[in-house]
Amino acid sequence: VQQNPAQPEFHQAVKEVLETIRPAVEANEERYRQLALLERLTTPDRQLLFRVPWVDDQGQVQVNNGYRVEFNNALGPYKGGLRLHPTVNLGILKFLGFEQIFKNALTTLPIGGAKGGSDFDPKGKSDREIMAFCQSFMTELYKYIGADIDVPAGDIGTGAREVGYLFGQYKRLTNRFEGVLTGKGLAWGGSLVRTEATGYGLLYLVEALLASQGQDLQGKTVTVSGAGNVAIYAVEKAQQLGAKVVTVSDSSGWVYDPAGIDVALLKEVKEQRRERLTAYASAREGATYHDGRGVWTVATDIALPCATQNELDLTDAQALVANGVQVVAEGANMPTTLEATTYLQEQGVAFLPGKAANAGGVAVSALEMSQNSERLYWSLAEVDAKLRQIMQDIFTNITTTATEYGVSGNYVAGANIASFLKVAGAMEAQGVV
Ligand code: NDP
Repeated sequence: VQQNPAQPEFHQAVKEVLETIRPAVEANEERYRQLALLERLTTPDRQLLFRVPWVDDQGQVQVNNGYRVEFNNALGPYKGGLRLHPTVNLGILKFLGFEQIFKNALTTLPIGGAKGGSDFDPKGKSDREIMAFCQSFMTELYKYIGADIDVPAGDIGTGAREVGYLFGQYKRLTNRFEGVLTGKGLAWGGSLVRTEATGYGLLYLVEALLASQGQDLQGKTVTVSGAGNVAIYAVEKAQQLGAKVVTVSDSSGWVYDPAGIDVALLKEVKEQRRERLTAYASAREGATYHDGRGVWTVATDIALPCATQNELDLTDAQALVANGVQVVAEGANMPTTLEATTYLQEQGVAFLPGKAANAGGVAVSALEMSQNSERLYWSLAEVDAKLRQIMQDIFTNITTTATEYGVSGNYVAGANIASFLKVAGAMEAQGVV
């Protein structure tokens, strides 16, 4: 805390990991201490901060902060998204980069952990302003990234449009067409299923959990928060698997749709028209719009927080339990506070942490890197089958690890211990660097 002042989200992410990996650390405590392994693991390899000047539509120069936190490359090139949101600061990107190390380790694919972004707010900006920002951002970032060095991707506020502008500028500056970003368009190096991967992967993990209990998603009620990339494809896959999803939300309010969310309409409003959820509610008979928070007050079997960090607190967890929730699976990164997580686990709710539950996105990003390296495209069926298998393998890995370390059913501990052991082993083998 003293070395990283005023970074509460980073402290929260580190605290959760350190507390849950205790059984794995204790077995090797002396050696890890001598190697300063935990100190090295919690200190980024590199933290880049830079100015991003760009010109708005009025001819006014605007200045934003740009960041890239290259946290750990013990397992492969740095990999992690770029977040564009006014709340972005170094502490938030350090928490996200730290989480990314462990998530990427769980995918079984050769990728290290990183995160970046800017306090730039894409909302309400014209396409030209978005392009001006992205080009300026890349004009600095390109010096530090590369297909075998650091491969950024999308995150909150960074979708296909932004990845396109970033890729174009990278190509122009380096004269190289290479897999330096993932989430690219399908015609120029992107992978099928990348757009859907995080939301689909989330449901594949929930499916694996339910299967282990002799259940499936058929007829289950699901509540989802968020209405962005992760939320939309979580809703779509949940419905394909037979569940009914009755909510979505954004930072202004939330929608209750008792007949089940109309995914085609949701995509049209959010992906094409780039409008708010009020537009969904007014176009959809039977759906109601409510200002503020409230998704977690709705009775549900399965809750999927897919918006942002710390959006599900203890009061929300209590309401979910009172309404009989069975499963909480994190589509977003660290959407559940530590108190809420502990409460849900104590109440016997199956809690799937983001590191495992939203790993499908970065897993397909790594598959995009593989396709770029061999200059081939794989079919939709092939990528989707690989994604489903990866999520099933993650479930097996975190379940057996939890059992092995005496914390059976604690998927947070299972995920943290399994990934920690992998990263720690690689760091030890590579010496003091
Ligand atoms: P998008 O920008 O596509 O959507 C984000 C959604 O969350 C929007 O509905 C947004 O509402 C809402 N939201 C954002 N900030 C807040 C806030 N402070 N309070 C309430 N609602 C908020 O992002 P993604 O769907 O890509 O990302 C969602 C989460 O999933 C993030 O935590 C991200 O890190 C995580 N994630 C994403 C992956 C991906 O592949 N995209 C992979 C793994 C994790 P509004 O429009 O009002 O801002």
